[in-house]
Amino acid sequence: MSGIEQIVSCLDDYDPNALRVDKAREAIRACITPISDVERVKTGEAVGRILAEDIVPKINVPAHDNSAMDGYALRFSDLEKNNSFVEAGTAFAGRPFGGKVGPGECVRVMTGAVMPAGTDTVVIQEVVKRDGDRITVPPGQKQAQNVRYAGEDLKVGVAVLSNGQYLRPAEVGLIASLGIGEVKVKRRLRVAFFSTGDELASIGSTLKEGEVYDSNRYTLHGMLSRLGVEVIDLGVVRDDPAALEAAFRKASQYDAIVTTGGVSVGEADFVKQLMAKLGEVLFWKIAMRPGRPMAFGKIQNSYLFGLPGNPVAVMVTFYQFVRDALLHLSGRNDDYAIPLLKAISSESIRKVPGRTEYQRGVLFKEGGDWKVRITGQQGSGVLRSMSEANCFIVLEHARGKVEAGEPVSVQLFEGLA
Ligand code: AMP
Ligand code: MG
Repeated sequence: MSGIEQIVSCLDDYDPNALRVDKAREAIRACITPISDVERVKTGEAVGRILAEDIVPKINVPAHDNSAMDGYALRFSDLEKNNSFVEAGTAFAGRPFGGKVGPGECVRVMTGAVMPAGTDTVVIQEVVKRDGDRITVPPGQKQAQNVRYAGEDLKVGVAVLSNGQYLRPAEVGLIASLGIGEVKVKRRLRVAFFSTGDELASIGSTLKEGEVYDSNRYTLHGMLSRLGVEVIDLGVVRDDPAALEAAFRKASQYDAIVTTGGVSVGEADFVKQLMAKLGEVLFWKIAMRPGRPMAFGKIQNSYLFGLPGNPVAVMVTFYQFVRDALLHLSGRNDDYAIPLLKAISSESIRKVPGRTEYQRGVLFKEGGDWKVRITGQQGSGVLRSMSEANCFIVLEHARGKVEAGEPVSVQLFEGLA
């Protein structure tokens, strides 16, 4: 038995001919070892990358106690004696007040200005009464109000970001706030992809009878690019053993290979033989719709995802399996599962228990509620159903028909990548 077969056959309830979606995802994860290669990038280029080190602050952020408002810094204990103060000077953000603050004195401070030595409280400018260089403070002030303390955001020695964390704009900003100009990140994955099928015509040629233009390669290119991997487009490959073998050999030098077509029952046999020769590949029938047939395996050191040919099935299996697998492979350790949100179905939806369905839906607001409807024809060849949708409606494995008004789970398209 090969390595991959051995790993998956140890999983509970593993049945390659009726594999549940969550099991398939678990099986793929169990077989994948994340990459460990790292590189250094400038902080300004780190967004979308995966951190390969822990970030432990060497400075406090902010570095000094400072004012949170425009106003007057004073000693709170003075207020108990007298509510009138003399203005001794001004402190701006980046331009501290150099002098000493005596009893009964205050300093005009701008937001971000370092708290003048001896002061502990800021009174906002809107409430004071001014008369020349004197101000009068109304009652009701609290000690330490409107002060931001050193280290309130980030503290020296307290780890703030960890190895494997995805870097969004907020994280990149945090790194910059520590004055760090370069970070260690995981190297980008390199993913090769191609379409298979004798019926596929490339853009630029005229369609002959029975041909379709190859759209999967364009969808895949888009989905992979948005995932942040380097893409290698190997074109269209005919349903021909020699051509396919050459393509797989070429693709196997990359971290992963994604193909479409050629894994359905009518075609699987010859692809199966070829796969068996080149590596270890499992052919699954997944209890889902669309996207039932799928191949997963390894050729050399490259992970193979053999997706179905139907355009909608390509997108569904990509988001439900390939996305998760590639993010795991790329070394991410934060929680990147696609959230399942609840919405009310505005109509009844046909569904039989025993498979997970990914219907294409439109989430919309009606009254105060978020509702969802399906985008018309749901055939796995109707790519328009994806284009018109803004979410998947995920109908769980055991669920039957959905009645109008029932809650359903949705996965938003926006924000996925
Ligand atoms: P297959 O999985 O190869 O049996 O293909 C299933 C269906 O998807 C067939 O109708 C194919 O013509 C169609 N199909 C396969 N590959 C592509 C592609 N790259 N672009 C558009 N349609 C495709
Ligand atoms: Mg085909």
